[in-house]
Amino acid sequence: MSTRHDILRDTFGFAAFRPGQEDVIDALERGRNVLAVMPTGAGKSLCYQVPALLFGGPTIVVSPLTALMDDQVARLRMDGVPAVAIHSGMPRDEQVEAWRQLAAGRARLAYMSPERLMTERMLAAVGRLGPAMFVVDEAHCVSKWGPSFRPEYALLSALPARFPQARIAAFTATADAATRADISAQLLGGRGDVHVHGFDRPNLHLAVTPRDDWRAQLTDFLEPHPGRSGIVYCLSRAFTEEVAEYLAGTGVDAIAYHAGLDAGQRRDAQDRFMSERGVVMVATIAFGMGIDKPDIRFVCHLNLPGSVEAYYQEIGRAGRDGAPADTRLFYGLDDVRMRRRFIQMDGGDEDHARREGQRLEAMVAYCETASCRRVALLAYFDEASEPCGNCDNCTDPPVTVDATGEARALVQAIQQTGEMFGAAHVIDVLRGADTEKVRQRGHQGVPAYGAGASRDLAHWQALVRQAGAAGLVTTDVARYGRLVVTARGRALADGDAGAFAFREPRARRSATRGAKATFRAVPRDVDEALVERLKARRRELAREAGVPAYVVFPDATLFEMARSRPRTRDEMAGISGVGPKRLEQYGDAFLELTAAE
Ligand code: ADP
Ligand code: MG
Ligand code: ZN
Repeated sequence: MSTRHDILRDTFGFAAFRPGQEDVIDALERGRNVLAVMPTGAGKSLCYQVPALLFGGPTIVVSPLTALMDDQVARLRMDGVPAVAIHSGMPRDEQVEAWRQLAAGRARLAYMSPERLMTERMLAAVGRLGPAMFVVDEAHCVSKWGPSFRPEYALLSALPARFPQARIAAFTATADAATRADISAQLLGGRGDVHVHGFDRPNLHLAVTPRDDWRAQLTDFLEPHPGRSGIVYCLSRAFTEEVAEYLAGTGVDAIAYHAGLDAGQRRDAQDRFMSERGVVMVATIAFGMGIDKPDIRFVCHLNLPGSVEAYYQEIGRAGRDGAPADTRLFYGLDDVRMRRRFIQMDGGDEDHARREGQRLEAMVAYCETASCRRVALLAYFDEASEPCGNCDNCTDPPVTVDATGEARALVQAIQQTGEMFGAAHVIDVLRGADTEKVRQRGHQGVPAYGAGASRDLAHWQALVRQAGAAGLVTTDVARYGRLVVTARGRALADGDAGAFAFREPRARRSATRGAKATFRAVPRDVDEALVERLKARRRELAREAGVPAYVVFPDATLFEMARSRPRTRDEMAGISGVGPKRLEQYGDAFLELTAAE
């Protein structure tokens, strides 16, 4: 009888489980249902793939995207694990053959789309095989509370009652407390454990810069990443096309991706991104869910994400192999306005709008923070941490000045105009502007009128954002984006609260240069030239096998080869990620390089 450690070593070629993996495997072995919330790249797949090989009956894995299923199956087969996919994107005879293998017990895992699985006929057929486990990947899709509800996922809530003998394992990278409760109510049938693991992704470099000239900023950002894969997120379809066109003009292999393309075009774009080197996907949020490409080296946002959850999930697609990856968010004030308009037009009730408004405000606060970004990000998910040394604010601390007097003037201007107006009007009042609205409302008469005339519009806009981030004022998105003073803001105006430190906007050039100096694509202790040779070899082998490069070996495995330079097959077998099957297939090809000289 093999154990989970045997399978980890002998099939997958890894020496040890990562944090959190064994807890999930333990619970599943004990027959519990599990919801595991683990960050992208933490290694969720192994949490069910190892038990699937230990259990008697087959495991059915439900996954939202067909490209994803095909990719997982290709990787499993590379490790010698008998797995199949069954989805409507496959020719009929291949589906029949896959089913035959599953029914004959020759395949241990079958990946299916939810709509394929949840037909009466399929459920009955699966039931006859005595399934040991159902896995629901990207489980947040079952919840209306989450950001990416999928109606076909809602059907899956029938599984626990229908298969009381089978375990159910649900996985997601993002789910706040409400979403977690909803998923476990729907999928775990009252006999489940919820496992939540750390959110930290220390290999991601975090940075946020105000957007002024996106073309120049994007080109600067991409400069240290030539020929690498990455994603550039944009808010609108039209903007993705504009950005992709601009990048193509500068010689970058960029493709636009958005929901307006037809299914075939989307599939082609995704295939190119998955299998070729150096493709930059310029995409709306329509792209990325469940993208399993481990060597995405950067994620850049040209617009503000709608929430910290969305931002975290999007940057989390970079660096899943654990090697350094670069992220940068460029954001502008018009993004905040546009996001607010989205929320207002969303058609939800006032509570919904208010909740989304608070999420947006938390996102802006993250952008405006003057201290470690990782500390701020993890705090949002209730995780305490220390300054990270791998974000813009850690390596290039912003200059702050005391602006308590100006913050007080802002609070007073809001109060004196009755807390009924948005930032634009409040700033007009502060700057003593002569507008129609000011005259109509008689706001030339309030004491705050003109109190901030010596500062320009951009300064006051930044001050309003930072006052929001500091919790002095909030924006009531449900009521036309009016600014409201908080208890803390009132205390500051009354002189009962401490000082307000204002962060001077960074100059663009210095911000980008800072990023170049601190970002390294290859870990420090690794010989870059050898890595390049290993990568070239991997490309040849991948091309021969007709698979994406990382299916042969992920970057992290190549780094380890370059670090420990194995000279014998035994030493090669000791590299994390080199299982027996891959050793036999590729070991010598890489040994030739690591054992040379
Ligand atoms: P996710 O949690 O995002 O689904 P994956 O399951 O795709 O993550 O795993 C991310 C990467 O981590 C993969 O390349 C996988 O092979 C690797 N990995 C998973 N578990 C381990 C482990 N115990 N040791 C080393 N690498 C691992
Ligand atoms: Mg996954
Ligand atoms: Zn930091």
